[in-house]
Formats: sequence, structure tokens, C-alpha cells
Amino acid sequence: MTSAQSLVILGATGSIGLSTLDVVARHPDRYRVHALTAHHRVDELAALCRRFHPRYAVVAGEADGERLRTLLAGEGTEVLTGAEALLQVAADPAVDAVMAAIVGAAGLLPTLAAVRAGKRVLLANKEALVMSGALFMQAVRDHGATLLPIDSEHNAIFQCLPRDHERGLHPVGVEKLILTASGGPFREWTAEQLQTVTPAQAVKHPNWSMGRKISVDSATLMNKGLEFIEACWLFNARPEQVEVLVHPQSVIHSMVRYSDGSVLAQLGNPDMRTPIAHAMAWPARIAAGVDALDLAAMGPLAFEKPDFARFPCLRLAQEAMQAGGTCPAVLNAANEVAVEAFLAGQLSFIAIPTLISRVISEMPVSAADELATILAADQEARERARRILASLT
Ligand code: NAD
Ligand code: MG
Repeated sequence: MTSAQSLVILGATGSIGLSTLDVVARHPDRYRVHALTAHHRVDELAALCRRFHPRYAVVAGEADGERLRTLLAGEGTEVLTGAEALLQVAADPAVDAVMAAIVGAAGLLPTLAAVRAGKRVLLANKEALVMSGALFMQAVRDHGATLLPIDSEHNAIFQCLPRDHERGLHPVGVEKLILTASGGPFREWTAEQLQTVTPAQAVKHPNWSMGRKISVDSATLMNKGLEFIEACWLFNARPEQVEVLVHPQSVIHSMVRYSDGSVLAQLGNPDMRTPIAHAMAWPARIAAGVDALDLAAMGPLAFEKPDFARFPCLRLAQEAMQAGGTCPAVLNAANEVAVEAFLAGQLSFIAIPTLISRVISEMPVSAADELATILAADQEARERARRILASLT
């Protein structure tokens, strides 16, 4: 390795952002932080800047920016503000790799900016790909970006596929991508019990520690639905080539089944630093600070089929992928509004899929070949979801 890789972390104060910085701190010779971004958490961002000395720090609002400038006076980090600044740091010619770890649709434009600048893009922000799949993957090809999945399941599949899988799954002998799912905290709850779920219960995941939105998505299985769509785009798979398998221990992070009957799996402790370090160093391997997997101490590994009746979000996402066009963007936007309303105590847990399905049924599917169409569908789906919400209360 000749010189350190210059890295931007979009969403540095989040769960993935902090895990990324933990890996960076273990390899100061390999990685240099060029920019760190956050939405509102100015104090946390200031502390990270003092530790990692990025060239730029980005926050959303001007007032937050002013406060950050005061906190970082004399530190050598320039503070930028606003959505444009995210695009600027993501596409900066001085940058090698961009960790896309903003949550939700807010990450789409900065992630695409990194892709269009031909960066090595470490993709945690699955919502960006769900919204814009075809356009996003075309941009990866057109601009020679290197797209590496951070989502543990997709990172596992990537590790189990041959290098030349971009030729197509069939030519390399792949029959199925098997996406494992923990089943979330309510895997064993009855339909009646699901009516009583509180936000505090939903954000407590049995195996992973994550941001609030993805924790709720894991509880509804929408996370697996979004990942189903993500897998189709990342690996150029038809929906029927992707299968979801519930595996409550989250030790097998996903599998690939080949035409000769072989099934390859990637295993590890449920710690996001493993896929993060894998994608950061690929094709090399570096230490991630993760404990060695102790299978003997683990007890049996279990597998079961997902229950679409109690967790309709998974089916909704699969149907959205089949419908194509703007439908996944609409699903994603309605889900973001529903999850926010659930976390704010304005919507019950079981009403999340009901709200999403109403928004989808109200909106025609258009071709998603233009960014403007995708963003308009996202906007309209949010407005419709909010209107339906208002009519419920
Ligand atoms: P998080 O809520 O912990 O962090 C989100 C980050 O995005 C924060 O730094 C926040 O400041 C920033 N952010 C939020 N809204 C923003 C906005 N409007 N503009 C700019 N920045 C904004 O979320 P997380 O758990 O780290 O997840 C990040 C992404 O990674 C999500 O897309 C999630 O689905 C994906 N992911 C997370 C995990 C995990 O273990 N946490 C695993 C797989 C995939
Ligand atoms: Mg995942």
C-alpha cells in the first residue's frame, strides 16, 4: 500500500458511521478521514473531528454550522453546511472512498454524487438503492465506481459469489441468493400481541445495535423487504432468485446456492465492523476488532420460513420490486413516514404496513429512469402518507 486512502463518512455520528471510525482508528496508516458529516448532532461531530482531524465537517443547518465553527476553532477543520456541501465532499477529487451511511432517502443524492464521481462507494444507505435501483446501477457502470455492500447480508453474499459474478448469476452457476433475517424482536409474538408493540420495544433488537429507523424496519421485516430489493439490484438477480430465510441467531449472514448443490455461507458475530472492514480493505483483509466466532459456545442454529401474515411489510416490498419503476421509491417513502409516526406515538405498529399499502395503491407506477421522477414520487408518497395519517387522528 503506497499511501493512505482518503475517506468521507456520510452520517458519521450514526451507528454505522461510528463503527466505521472504530475500524479507521485501528488502521491509521491505511485510512485518512477527509470529511465527516452529520445532521444535527453538533457536539458529537465536534468530538469526532477533534479525534480524526478531517479536512471538512458538514452539518445541515447554518445555526448548527456556526456552533460547530466555534467548537472547532483552530482545529484545522473547515465547516460546511447544507445539502450541497454533502455532494461537494462526496465528489471531492481528493477522495478515494465514501461510506454512505446517512439513513433514508436523504442519503440518495450524496451517495449518487459519490457514484458519479467514480468513487469506491461503501453502501450502507440501502434506501438510496431501493429508490433508484436501475439508475443507480447504471451510474455505477457509467462512471466506473466500485460499489461494495455494507449491509451484512449483501456483504456476505458478495463474499460468497465469484469475482466475475457481474457476468450474471446464471453464467457463474448461481441458483439462489439466500438472504437471512433474524426475524426481529417480535418473531414469536402472536398477531394479538403485535397490536400492543411500543416504540421502546421495537427499537430493542435481539442481536444488533443499530439506529432507530432500521431497528423498527427490522421489527416489521421491512428491513428484509428493502434488502430483498437491494439484493436484486446489487447482484442483478430476478426476484425469484432471492429467497428470505429466518435465522434467529444472526450468525450466518447470508448464503449463495449453486447449481451443483453447494451452498456457501459467510458467518461471523453480529458486529457491523466485519462487513465495514471487509468493504474498506477489499480485496485485502484487515483486523476489525471483532471477537472470534465461537461456534461451540453458540448452541444450535435454527432456520424457518418468514411469516408473511404477521409481517406483511416483507410481501409489500417484494411486490413493489415486481411492480418496478417508481414503486420501490413509493414504498420506501411511505415507510419512512410510517416509521417516524410510529416512533412519535402517532401510529400503531400493525398500522405501518396498512399505511404503506394504502399509499402504494393510490399511486400509479411510472418508469424510474429519471432522478426527477423518482424524487417526485418520493415527495408525493410522503404527502399522501401524511394526509392518510392526519385522517386517522
Ligand atoms: P443512524 O440513525 O444511527 O445514523 C444516521 C446518520 O445519518 C447520522 O449520522 C445522522 O446525523 C445522519 N442523518 C440523518 N438524517 C440526515 C439528513 N436528513 N441529512 C444528512 N444526514 C442525516 O443510522 P444507522 O443505523 O447508522 O444506519 C445508517 C444506514 O445504514 C441506514 O440506511 C441503514 O439502513 C443502514 N444499515 C445500518 C446497519 C446498522 O447496523 N446500523 C446495518 C445495515 C445497514
Ligand atoms: Mg442487513
